[in-house]
Amino acid sequence: MKSLIHNLDRKKVLLILEWCKNQFGRSRYVRKYPKLRVYRSTGNSSFEYKDGGLFGTYNLGTIIIYLGSHDSMKELCKTVIHEYRHYLMSVREYRSLYKDMAASGSDPEVISHIHPHEKECREFEEKWGGLCFSQLRKKLYKKD
Ligand SMILES: [Zn+2]
Repeated sequence: MKSLIHNLDRKKVLLILEWCKNQFGRSRYVRKYPKLRVYRSTGNSSFEYKDGGLFGTYNLGTIIIYLGSHDSMKELCKTVIHEYRHYLMSVREYRSLYKDMAASGSDPEVISHIHPHEKECREFEEKWGGLCFSQLRKKLYKKD
């Protein structure tokens, strides 16, 4: 049972997003900072390996976070960092690479593993997740 979400709300996710803005700055591809949408539910995913639910998405300048899919604060930090990294990259390039991989026979689940942007985002969240969590830890666990 994932009980973490009871201590979580949009404000906590905003803390992490602010951390990302300070740390990583603005995208070269989108004029504004990303908008944030937060759901308490789990995200639906057709991929079996994400049976705990989709963590988040980035599309068209908006980061979406599904709190219900998370069972730790650190994991939540990593998701926001992951989606923020997508924001920093070109969506046009993402789609074009995706199309090429689909055309050469890869299915969406495989593409989600091998897409260069996804690999970059996974490495990025691994690289920064621990620092983000340790710096925000007190604020994230604070009850208000
Ligand atoms: Zn991703």
